[in-house]
Amino acid sequence: MTARLRAALAAADDDRIIYDLPGIEERYDELLRRLPGADVRFAMKACPVDEVLARLARKGAGFDAASPGEVGQALRAGAPAARVHYGNTVKSDRGILAAHRLGVRDFATDSPEDVTALAALAPGSRVFCRLATTGEGALWGLSRKFGCAPEEAVRVLAGARDAGLTPAGLSVHVGSQQMTAAAWRRAFDAFADVLAALAARGIRLDHVNLGGGLPALGYRDLRGRPLVPDLDETFATIRAGMARLRAAARGPLRFVVEPGRHLVADHGAIRAHVARLASRRHADGGRGYWLFLSCGKFNGLYEADQLQYPLVFPSHGAAAELVPAVVAGPTCDSDDVVAEGRVPVQVPRAAASGDPVWILSSGAYAVSYMTRGFNGYGPLPHTCLRAG
Ligand SMILES: *Cc1c(COP(=O)(O)O)cnc(C)c1O
Repeated sequence: MTARLRAALAAADDDRIIYDLPGIEERYDELLRRLPGADVRFAMKACPVDEVLARLARKGAGFDAASPGEVGQALRAGAPAARVHYGNTVKSDRGILAAHRLGVRDFATDSPEDVTALAALAPGSRVFCRLATTGEGALWGLSRKFGCAPEEAVRVLAGARDAGLTPAGLSVHVGSQQMTAAAWRRAFDAFADVLAALAARGIRLDHVNLGGGLPALGYRDLRGRPLVPDLDETFATIRAGMARLRAAARGPLRFVVEPGRHLVADHGAIRAHVARLASRRHADGGRGYWLFLSCGKFNGLYEADQLQYPLVFPSHGAAAELVPAVVAGPTCDSDDVVAEGRVPVQVPRAAASGDPVWILSSGAYAVSYMTRGFNGYGPLPHTCLRAG
């Protein structure tokens, strides 16, 4: 956490989510250094906050949009339409028409039906076909709903060519918060096979889209252990894969990357407060502490089904007595539990209603998953920190 973010959390006297814009920009610059020559298309759903998008657009990033609404927001943030692609394989006729009218010319696809619709409603567009992955090694696999098998990708792109579209690329998503470099190796193997099969049919693509999956660095697993990805190995694997595909290609081959959480997760944090630390007897006769927070699954912390966010209790010092607790949100929904690992979270025994709680590394997906006032708990307002 930067000193800037810490100071803003300390200064906040009400609940909010705070984004450190210079921190996000630094993460973006670092990504470009690690993957020289790659075009970044930020996956907007990870942080659909105008100020964040405008900063990234100004630095030259484009956007991976999943609906006409996201396309519109990307354009308003200052990205030219040429740097915005429609990355969702799920599209209605209406969605295709609206995006095409807004100037989008690059579309993800993974089925012949979608290709037929694109040819009719977005004639002359460029398409990239998403390959399915197993999602192994990731916290969220994204494996069933999207992408097709290698042979099907060849058929889909050949069909696109026959329908008058430009078969332009291949894409993949190795799974969100991908913790292994092996997943990237498998993706490059699949790219190499499909590119060769396409070349045999006289189809040459101009780019490969590596998708999302690059991890955040500050999460804990459900047992409370730090989730530490080996970023050096991951990026080395990706660079080697890029070099391999470039060497095999007859012409120039561009690379696109669609980071989501990697850019924003660790540079966003929530200032919430303690509703109550309660000791409760359970149906099984056991007794335990529950820490209820002002914020839970329905206002920002939906992803707590797979991870724990580091919690800081700034009004209780390092010497405070701790007790193990289940941590939960404020609504009347029993799913609204944000930390119930096999190892309970340690919280200060003296935690009192109203005490501030900082929820770190919560900058990714929080805004997208906020409901409109479930039980009267509104979405968190946001603050964007500028330089200084
Ligand atoms: C959500 C999404 C991403 C970003 O995923 P992360 O795991 O956050 O990096 C990238 N590409 C597509 C198509 C997505 O749907």
